[in-house]
Amino acid sequence: MTDERRERYAVAIYNSADGGKGRPWEALYESDREFHRTIADAAMAEADAEQREAKERYREGLRRADEHNNDLMAEVQRYADASERPVLWSVYNEMHKRAASAEGELGQMRELVRDLADPDPCYFDHHGYCQAHGWFETEPTCPHARVKAMLPDDQEA
Ligand SMILES: [Zn+2]
Repeated sequence: MTDERRERYAVAIYNSADGGKGRPWEALYESDREFHRTIADAAMAEADAEQREAKERYREGLRRADEHNNDLMAEVQRYADASERPVLWSVYNEMHKRAASAEGELGQMRELVRDLADPDPCYFDHHGYCQAHGWFETEPTCPHARVKAMLPDDQEA
C-alpha cells in the first residue's frame, strides 16, 4: 500500500517534469526511478505532516465546540432546574436604578434622623422609661437611644 502510494507519487513527479514527455516510467533506468522515489518520500512526508496538522486542528475545533456545547447545556439545565435564571439586562438595570435611589433616600433619612435626635443623653427611670425625652415604653426603648445605637458615629459629632 505504502509502496504503491510511493510509486504513484514518484511517477507523478516524473510526469510533471520534462522527462514526462519523453520516455515512459517503465523505460527509465532503475537508478532514475529510485531518484524520483526519493523525491516522492519527501513529498509524502510533507503531505502526511499537513494531514496530521489538519486532523489536530479539526480535533481541537471539535473539542472546543464540545466544551462550549456542554457549557450551554449545563446553563440550560440550571434554568430548567430553576436554580438559575437568565439575566435580563433591562430588569437588572431597573433593579440597579431602584437600589441607587433607595441608597440615596436612606442617606437623606439618616441625616434627617440625626438632626431630629436630641444630643442630650436619655435618662431612664426604674421602669426603663426615658424621663429626658418623655418616652414611656420599654419595648421599643426611647427612639433617641435607638438613634445613638444605630448612628453611633453621627452622635459623636
Ligand atoms: Zn431618651
